[in-house]
Amino acid sequence: MKSRAVKLSHSDYVEESVALLKNILIDNSYPEKIINRFLFHTAIVNNNNQRPTAQQLPNITNTPLEPNRVTEDQNGQLVSYFSLPYIDNLTYKLANVFRQHNNIKIANKQVKALSKLYSRTKTPLQIMENWNVVYRLQCRDCDLSYIGQTSRNLKGRITSHKSDCRRGVLSCALSEHVNNLDHRIDWDGAEILDRADSFCKRTFLEMVHINSQVNTMNKRSDTQSLSVIYGYILDLYSGKYGSLRQVATQGSQ
Ligand SMILES: [Zn+2]
Repeated sequence: MKSRAVKLSHSDYVEESVALLKNILIDNSYPEKIINRFLFHTAIVNNNNQRPTAQQLPNITNTPLEPNRVTEDQNGQLVSYFSLPYIDNLTYKLANVFRQHNNIKIANKQVKALSKLYSRTKTPLQIMENWNVVYRLQCRDCDLSYIGQTSRNLKGRITSHKSDCRRGVLSCALSEHVNNLDHRIDWDGAEILDRADSFCKRTFLEMVHINSQVNTMNKRSDTQSLSVIYGYILDLYSGKYGSLRQVATQGSQ
């Protein structure tokens, strides 16, 4: 990076380019001490590939860099740990420089995680605004989940579920689970499993998902319309009866 800045600059502007590079590294959260050490501790090769003169070399700061941690290895030798902000294509090269020294260890640290700079692309609110979906709700107190489908938006359907739970309606498997076991549902963690505009397609997809779940609080009657053949084929592909090869071998015996 440094030699590139030097090579691309006219000899009169080398110092200015290196100073600019230093500012860029500071903007990228590199500690100034490390920048000074790595940027100014190595000789600058100028445009003509000649060694630079003393006047061309910037001042080298001799401030010692403080390690993040110092420990003793099994031979009683002190090992210093330094953490460098991770910058793609740069940090590992710096770490490689120190790999040959057994008493210096370099670790990467994430300074600006993307997730901290940007908000989640899909907020729970956006999920709640979906219509014509097959959804899953997870119990917070056990590993059972509920699968349902709705033509309304998910938020409206969940409001109905909450109302059923509050009123102790026992015709729905979800409300029955909540009321009989005094368990709580993770309403905000609602997950969309499938989408379909037609009621028939959604009902079929709902049954397929209930059938594929091991831990579901849905009632057996929720899947009774699923053709026995479909159920068997789905189970076959989910590995319930072993691998397809095993099933085929058993079938031919
Ligand atoms: Zn539960």
